[in-house]
Amino acid sequence: MEALSGVMKKATSIGLFNGIDVSCNGPSLSHLIYADDVMFVGEWSPSNIINLRRMMRCFYLASGLKINLAKCSIFGIGVEDQEIQDTVLLLGCKQAVLAGGQNISFWLDIWADSLPLYLKFPALFKIESVKECLVADRIHMDDNDIVLNWAWARLLAGVEEQNQFQQLVTLIGCPNMSAGYDVWRWPDSVFEWNNWVPKKVGLVAWRADMERLPTKQALAARNVQIQDKLCVFCGEYVETSEHIFVSCHFAQVTWLNLATWWGLPPIIAFGLKDLLTVHGSNSGSEKKRKAIHAVVLVAIWNIWKTRNDALFRNLTPN
Ligand SMILES: [Zn+2]
Repeated sequence: MEALSGVMKKATSIGLFNGIDVSCNGPSLSHLIYADDVMFVGEWSPSNIINLRRMMRCFYLASGLKINLAKCSIFGIGVEDQEIQDTVLLLGCKQAVLAGGQNISFWLDIWADSLPLYLKFPALFKIESVKECLVADRIHMDDNDIVLNWAWARLLAGVEEQNQFQQLVTLIGCPNMSAGYDVWRWPDSVFEWNNWVPKKVGLVAWRADMERLPTKQALAARNVQIQDKLCVFCGEYVETSEHIFVSCHFAQVTWLNLATWWGLPPIIAFGLKDLLTVHGSNSGSEKKRKAIHAVVLVAIWNIWKTRNDALFRNLTPN
C-alpha cells in the first residue's frame, strides 16, 4: 500500500494525475487508503482515468499485485450518467450509485459542487441546526418532485442569507449534476432537446417548461422568505417563468430583436410553449428550424443568466 501511495504521489507531482484541491492552498487529494481498500479521488477527465488505469497496470507489473477491476466501483459526482457508463465500459469496473444520499453529508462532503456546501454557503451553514445532516435528510423525492427539508435554527434573515439560499436552491435543484443519484430522476417530458446547444443551455428552458426554475414566485410558493416577488427587469410584476421569458417588456424586446435579426415575422408568444415551438412553424429547411430552436434556447438561457446576474451580482440588465 505504501508503494501504491508513492506511485500516486509521484504521478500527482508530475501532473499525470489531477486530484481534488481540498482547500485554497492546501494539498491536493488523490487517494485514500484504509487497510486493504483504496479510493482514488480526482477530476473527472479522460486523461485522469486513462492514466490511472496505466498506473494500476505498472503497479501490477512491478509488484505482482493485480487490481481486479471487476471488483472496483466508480462514482461520478456531477457527471452525466452516460459519461459514467462509458467510463465503466472503458475500465471494466462497476458503476456505483450513491443511493439516495444516505451516506453523504449535506454540508461537509463534496457532492453538489467542487466545494463542500458549508464553504460555499457559510451564512446558511451558521444557522443549520444539524451540521452533520445527510443529503437524504435535506432532499428526497416525493411523487417525482424534489422535496427540500430544511432545519434552520431560526428564520432566514438579511440579504446575504437570502442570496445564498437562492443560490443553494438553484444549485441543488439542477438535475444535470445529479445523474447517477436515484433520488434525482425526473419525469419524462415532451421537451425537445437540441444538440446544437450545450446541455446547460437547454436545461434552463427545460426547467422553465417544467415549472421547475426557482423564480421568486416559485420560492414564495415553497414558503421561502424572499425580499420581494418582483421581476428584476421591470420591477412591476411578480416574477414567474412565464413573466420573465414571455410577458415582461424586457423579454418582448429580446424576442422582437431576434425576429428582426432572422428576418422573421414578429414572434407573438402567449406562453413558453409558443417560444419553444416557434421554429416548427418556419417554412425553411429542417436545419433552419433547428437553428431557430437553438437560438430560442440560447436566448432563454441568456435571459435567466441576466436575471441571476442582476439578482445576485447587482449587474444592470442589458
Ligand atoms: Zn418584468
